[in-house]
This record gives sequence, structure tokens and C-alpha cells, in this order.
Amino acid sequence: MPMKTEISSDLAETDPLIAQALSDEKTRQQNQIELIASENIVSPAVRQALGHEMTNKTLEGYPGNRFHSGGQFVDVVEQAAIDRARELFGAEYANVQPHSGVQSNQAVFFTLVKPGDRILSLDLAAGGHLSHGAKANLSGRWFESHHYTVDRDTGLMNYDRIEAQAREVKPHLLIAGGSAYPRDIDFARMAEIANAVDARFLVDMAHVAGLVAAGVYPNPVPHADIVTCTTTKTLRGPRGGMILSRSDAFAKKLQSAIFPGVQGSLHSNVLAAKAVCLGEALRPEFRDYGRQVVANARALADVLIERGIRIVGGGTDTHMVLLDLTSKGINGKQAEDALTAANITSNKNPIPFDNPRPADWVGLRLGVSAATTRGLKQAELSELGQCIANMIDAAAHGTVEQATREARQTVARLCEQYPA
Ligand SMILES: *Cc1c(COP(=O)(O)O)cnc(C)c1O
Repeated sequence: MPMKTEISSDLAETDPLIAQALSDEKTRQQNQIELIASENIVSPAVRQALGHEMTNKTLEGYPGNRFHSGGQFVDVVEQAAIDRARELFGAEYANVQPHSGVQSNQAVFFTLVKPGDRILSLDLAAGGHLSHGAKANLSGRWFESHHYTVDRDTGLMNYDRIEAQAREVKPHLLIAGGSAYPRDIDFARMAEIANAVDARFLVDMAHVAGLVAAGVYPNPVPHADIVTCTTTKTLRGPRGGMILSRSDAFAKKLQSAIFPGVQGSLHSNVLAAKAVCLGEALRPEFRDYGRQVVANARALADVLIERGIRIVGGGTDTHMVLLDLTSKGINGKQAEDALTAANITSNKNPIPFDNPRPADWVGLRLGVSAATTRGLKQAELSELGQCIANMIDAAAHGTVEQATREARQTVARLCEQYPA
């Protein structure tokens, strides 16, 4: 008989400091409305997989071809995650091992470009991402990075101008996607631009992957050479990344770019959680979730516009609403702090052409993925929108007490009605 070992350990006894912090975090999540656009609330099934003993297993390589023995059950898990990702996004190739979104992008760089090559991506202030060639990121050190921006008056990508810039820069790699671009992207047009200048085309759909999965946002997979994303954010899975492609053209290079290119052993338990989240995203209910996310974001945007706040891009096609607080006379940090006092969590953000210093940014980014997972619908998002506008007006006039009291009451009621 194989021996069975029971180790009983209650975290509260063995490590009270951490047990308390975990407990406090859970309470915090329950008692506030989360409007940070990159966050979501994973299912109990995803959490179960994350906390599983599978984390004890060390493996390198890919299913059926590992560098260590004993990997037969992790093989089942990884293969399921791969199959589900391919089905969900209509991809021929999927790599589910990246530990994060940034590492997914690193592996793509490893595959498609060489140090010194030119990359062309969305400007950071216009909603791009640090890992797309920002000076402070490795990608900015290793590549000659150029950035396209959006039109100042509309906040929208201008494809004619991007094409003209691409013809001038002649990038080796064109990148679409980012962290704060709230509208649809014409991936077919971006692919044409890449094609016209002989560049490879990467789409980083980290923020919108769940919306793509739900069929409510354009799928970049048919248009890009390679697509990267996170399994967090709208996809509602564990922290981690993923690489997809419409063909196997880069499969071999991508496999070795992840391992041994930029990573070592895989995170077995996270692979299980990814497989679970992808399975959930394949169910019809996830389509309803995606539709509700966009409807909720639009309800929030409508109220804020009504209340005289400029919304970058004029509205939203995603889970995200980006506020320009210029006309209100406060900056993003002041708005973020005011909302935090009302138990609404958000983040200051640059808007296109914003000041370089974070302390001076005039944008506030809101996202409704987590609130939608809790069950909030348009009526509740409209109500929250009124609270947010009240708080912003109050912060602008330096009289926050009453608005904070009222907003806290609304938030407390919603949190009780819709448990996390
Ligand atoms: C969030 C995000 C990432 C980073 O993902 P991590 O898992 O935090 O590394 C990369 N690209 C974009 C566009 C993102 O929004």
C-alpha cells in the first residue's frame, strides 16, 4: 500500500501575520467596488486549482517531452489548456506556459526580432504598454522603439497616419493593443499596414482577451502573426500569460523562446487554473458575461458624459472607461484618492498627450470586469457613475465629506447585495 501522509496545518496558527493579511484582503475585496480595469474575480474552481498540490511538481519542456519524470498528470492539464485555448480563440498554435503577459511578449520578441531592430507600437500615454518598447523596460533598451499615437481631438487610432509613419520608420515589428485604449481596433487594417512595410504583426490583447473569447470584441487571431494575452483581466483566470497564433509557422521558435529562451520550469498549478478558466470561458454563460461587461461599461460612460466629464475616445467598446479630468480642474491622483475614500478602487492614468509625470496625469481609468462578475448591471453602474461624478465634483470644490458619506453608503449597499 502506498503511504498517505496528512499534514494538518492551520495557517492562522503557523503564520498569523500572513493569515491576518489574507483575511484582511478578503474583507477589503468584499467591502469595496473594484474598478481597476486589469482586475477581476476568479471562480472558486480557479482558486481550487491554484491552491492545489500540483504546485509541488517541477517540469520543463512540453507535454510528452519533459525533462523530469512524473509529469503525466500535468501533461493532461497542459494539453487541456492548449486545446481549450485553440478552440476558444480559433488558433492553430497555443502556448499556455508564460508566467505573465510581459514574458509572453518577451518570448515573441525572442522569436520575431533581434536586438537593434525597430518596433512600432502604441504610445504609452495613448494607452500602450510598458513592455512594447518603453525606455524603462528591457524592450526599450534592446530595440529601437517608435510609437504611434491617437488623434488628439477624437482619442482614436488614425490608421492612415499609422500607415504613413510605418512607411517612414519601416519597423521589423508592428504592435497593436495596450492597457488603456477603450475602443475597437481594426486588426485587419493594422495587418495590411504591417504587410505593406514587410513587418511582422503582434497583437497584445491582454485587456480584452475575455471580451474576444465572449465574441464581443474583434478577434485579432486571424490577422496577426502572433497574439499574446494574460489570463487575468477580462478572461477571469489566474495571473499568467498565453501566446496564440493562427498558424504553426512560428510554433517551433515560440516553444523554445518560452523554454529555455525566457523561462525555466513551468507553474504546474497555474496551468491547471488556466485550463479551468479557459473551460469556463468556453461555456455559453461567458458570452453573457462579456455582453454584460460592455453594456455596464457603456452605462457608466453615459452617466459620466451626462455629468460633463470628457471620456477619451468618446465612449467605450470594452470593459474600460478613461476619464479626462482636465475640465474638472483635478488630476488623476486626486480623483483616485477621493474614490478610495468612498471604497471605490481605481487608478490614475495618463490620457493621450498627458504630462510625463504620473503625479500630473489628468486621467482616471475605470473598468467594470470585476463589478460585473459580482453581478452588478447597468442600473447599478449608472448609480456608481453618479457617485463617481459627485466625488469628482466634490474633490474639485474641496468639499468631499458629504459626497464621501453618500458614496460610501451606496457602495456598502451594493457590496452587501452583490457579494464578491
Ligand atoms: C497587463 C498587460 C500586460 C502585462 O501582464 P503581466 O501579466 O502583468 O505581465 C502586458 N500587456 C498589456 C497590453 C497589458 O495590459
